[in-house]
Amino acid sequence: MPLDPAVRTGKLANGFTYFIRRNTNPEKRVVFYIVNKVGSVLEKEDQRGLAHFLEHMNFNGTTHYPKNELISYLERSGVAFGADLNAYTNFNETVYQLPLPSDDPELLKNGLQIMRDWAHGALLEPAEIDRERGVILEEKRMRSGFDQRLLEKSLPMSLNNSIYSRRLPIGTEQVLTTFKPAQIKSFYDQWYRPDLQALIVVGDIDPARIEKSVRAIFSDLKNPAKEQQRQKISIPLTGDEHFLKYTDAEAPDSRITISYKFRSPMLRTRSDYREKYCEASLISCSLSGSMT
Ligand SMILES: [Zn+2]
Repeated sequence: MPLDPAVRTGKLANGFTYFIRRNTNPEKRVVFYIVNKVGSVLEKEDQRGLAHFLEHMNFNGTTHYPKNELISYLERSGVAFGADLNAYTNFNETVYQLPLPSDDPELLKNGLQIMRDWAHGALLEPAEIDRERGVILEEKRMRSGFDQRLLEKSLPMSLNNSIYSRRLPIGTEQVLTTFKPAQIKSFYDQWYRPDLQALIVVGDIDPARIEKSVRAIFSDLKNPAKEQQRQKISIPLTGDEHFLKYTDAEAPDSRITISYKFRSPMLRTRSDYREKYCEASLISCSLSGSMT
C-alpha cells in the first residue's frame, strides 16, 4: 500500500527506520513509539518469557535514567505511567509508547533520548532483575485461571502445533525464577538491534528538526557481529478437522466453539485495509454508508 506522502521516512545506515508525521490535532502534543520486531516467538525454550521481561526492564534503569528515575522524571513532567506511558509485548513485536507535550524543547529532546535508551540502553542490573521477577510472577498469577488454562490447552490445536502455541509472552515460571542476568543480556544483544527497530513520531512537531535529531542520536546503534536471521514463521493450513474436549473444575459455563481457519488475507489496497478494520470492529460496513 502506498505510504501517506505526509510521512517523512528514512533508514539509517545501521538499518534503523523512522516515520515522522506532523499532526496538529491535538495541538502541542506528540507521541513517540519505538517498535521492535522482537517478540516471544524468537525465544528458545530456556528463554521463555524474556522478551516480555525485557519490556519491564526498560523501565528499571537505562543509560540516562538509572534505577526508576525514568518513571519519576516523566511523572514530574505530567506523564502518568500506565495511562499515557505504556508498552506491550506480543508474539512478534514489542512496542513502547510515550506521549508528551511538544511545546517544551527540553522535554522533546529528552523524549527522543528516552527512545534511544529504549532502543538499546537498558542497564539490566542483576539486583533490578531479581526485583522484577516477583512483579512478573505476580502478573502471571493474576492472569492464571480458567480462561488462561483453556487458552493454553487449545492453542496447539488452533495454531496447528506451531511454535506460536508454545510461546505465550508471559513465559514459564521455571525460566522466570531461574534465568541468569547473562541470559537476558544475550537475548537483548541479539534481538534489540537497529535493523529490527523503527521509531514513529506523530504530533505537533517540525518533522525536519526531529529527523535531524534522530539521525544524530540513533546512528551509533550497532547490529551484533553474529546476527541471527529473524525467521518468518508461517502456519500452514492442513485442511483437517480437529476436536478438543476440555473440562475444568472452575469452568463458569458450558460452551461449544466452532472455528474456521483461513489463509491470512494480504493487505494490498485501501479496501483490504477497510475490510480488516470492519471485521475487527464487528461493524457491518454495508449498513454504514459514511464509513471510509
Ligand atoms: Zn508485563
